[in-house]
Amino acid sequence: MSEKTMGKEMMDKLAYKKKNVFEEADAEKIKAIYDYAEGYMAYLDASKTEREAVLTSVALAEKAGYTEYKLGDKLAVGDKKYYNNRGKSLILFKIGTNDLEKDGIRIVASHIDSPRLDLKQVPMYEDSGMAFLKTHYYGGIKKYQWTATPLSLHGVVVKADGEVVNIVIGEDPKDPVFYINDLLPHLASKQVAESLGTAISGETLNILIGGLPYNDSEVSDKIKLTALSYLNEKYGITEEDFLSAELSLVPAAPARNVGFDGALIAAYGHDDRVCSYPALTALLATETNERTSMVVLADKEEVGSMGVSGMQSNIVVDIIDEISAALGKNSRVVRSSSKCLSADVNAAFDPNFADVYEKRNSAMISCGTVLSKYTGSRGKSGTSDASAELVAFVRKLFADNGVIWQTAELGKIDAGGGGTVAMYVANRNIDTVDLGVPVISMHAPYEVVSKADVYSTYEACLAFVK
Ligand code: MN
Ligand code: MN
Repeated sequence: MSEKTMGKEMMDKLAYKKKNVFEEADAEKIKAIYDYAEGYMAYLDASKTEREAVLTSVALAEKAGYTEYKLGDKLAVGDKKYYNNRGKSLILFKIGTNDLEKDGIRIVASHIDSPRLDLKQVPMYEDSGMAFLKTHYYGGIKKYQWTATPLSLHGVVVKADGEVVNIVIGEDPKDPVFYINDLLPHLASKQVAESLGTAISGETLNILIGGLPYNDSEVSDKIKLTALSYLNEKYGITEEDFLSAELSLVPAAPARNVGFDGALIAAYGHDDRVCSYPALTALLATETNERTSMVVLADKEEVGSMGVSGMQSNIVVDIIDEISAALGKNSRVVRSSSKCLSADVNAAFDPNFADVYEKRNSAMISCGTVLSKYTGSRGKSGTSDASAELVAFVRKLFADNGVIWQTAELGKIDAGGGGTVAMYVANRNIDTVDLGVPVISMHAPYEVVSKADVYSTYEACLAFVK
């Protein structure tokens, strides 16, 4: 009975089948997967904006012996450095002993910004017994998901004299939270007949911030004044200081285990800290000295990767130029022999919404990190499409290191699609392929991932950068 039939044997040998990471794991491996998730969840709770993610990542990097690099500093083999780009993006690298022109740099590029609600420049007003803040949403959100749920306020106010005031309100259970009003069902017959896309408009995403009138009959806008006086007392700011501020509303909930078995994690901002954390911790865990490796934690991916802190900026090339020059190497040659994993999330197949997925080519949850040879939509539009040679290289690397992984497209061909930073790296003549964690309810205020896939992405990054 234990003998395989010929057909079964042939099937095992010839046919491709995805594997479930949990099913393949022994008890020790499952413990490692669960333990790793705890560090990730702590990272998430401390990193709800790109600025906070930079600070948390710098702290981890310094603990691992990395020191700050500024453009123009001397560099040498053996250096472990991080470049803090304006507090909003972070580039970490270690310089190995290998010939840089021959071996290139192994780069993992992910992003640390997530969809959220930014405050407008003149946000505060009072109406009908309540004070509010106007927002302009950042990234692709389904607006209806952000109403009637607790929100926290994060960010910085930079005063005219340059003083930076950090603000985090709504994370401590003793803090107040903020809120966006929605319509009661009793009066929503017109609203519920609208499409999900239009039922809540951008201009109704106004943040409820107070209801207590300032005790002075001589002034109008008394509730707004109460809010302003609170902010002035606690942070020394005035309404004009909002002009030079970056304040965002994000979901107030911390990361939590999901399910009776706790195999999944629900959190705000998995996209893309769920790739940033594995990339970062893989680099920091690397103790070999041969390879030159780099991790980029970029900003602005959710709005097109533009600007000084986005992946379209020249900073990564500048740093490769600096490393190359320090070692007497030609930066153009170095880039041509470098390789990059563009580490970003993918859509996990969801049986509740099966019609937008093509099951054979979708990411299945818990089946490991997802490689996407190409992204884009409707005819691969906008993709950099990694070469078969690069995918073969990664296949072998993962096989040699026991990484369970899968391949996927994001949804059905004509259903839509998504982009990543891959093309911006590839455009600099660096071979690049997409890799990342499958996510349920991507871009929702509270997204879900599998601990198995987070760990698999860590193993994949580690195999690549070590
Ligand atoms: Mn992303
Ligand atoms: Mn995204």
